[in-house]
Amino acid sequence: MTISAKKVATIHYTLKNEQGEVLDSSEGQEPLVYLQGYQNLVPGLEKELEGKAVGDKLSVVVPPEEGYGETDPQLFQELPKDMFGGIDQIEVGMEFHAETADGPQVVEVVEVEEDTVTINGNHPLAGMDLHFDVEVLEIRDATEEELQHGHVHGEGGCGHEH
Ligand code: ZN
Repeated sequence: MTISAKKVATIHYTLKNEQGEVLDSSEGQEPLVYLQGYQNLVPGLEKELEGKAVGDKLSVVVPPEEGYGETDPQLFQELPKDMFGGIDQIEVGMEFHAETADGPQVVEVVEVEEDTVTINGNHPLAGMDLHFDVEVLEIRDATEEELQHGHVHGEGGCGHEH
């Protein structure tokens, strides 16, 4: 059996940036179980996993357009500081949940000045080449219910509200 649409694959993965720093990894934890063909993963990684078999190991570099997108300069916004009324000290690197036209978004503070705060609403991995090392551990057919929901269910069935 190989990975194709409607298969559930179990993988170990490590994600590094251009500099080789580990950003995310399943090593030492439960492996990742996902449903192929349902955009559970970034498109570039899903594409490379297509056709792979148990035991296969691959190293993939996913460019931004197949990852989390290019950095969008329009998602940088300068806001008046008094919009952050309830917060004593605003610092670079702080994250806030904001309601945007595209739904809820995490925004990061990238600059703080006397009267203004600049936030970045891009995904933290936007504009980056993503270096994935992946090992395929298991492949199985998805259940009807998983296909309907578009994601994998664990031992106890669907653990989410729909
Ligand atoms: Zn579900």
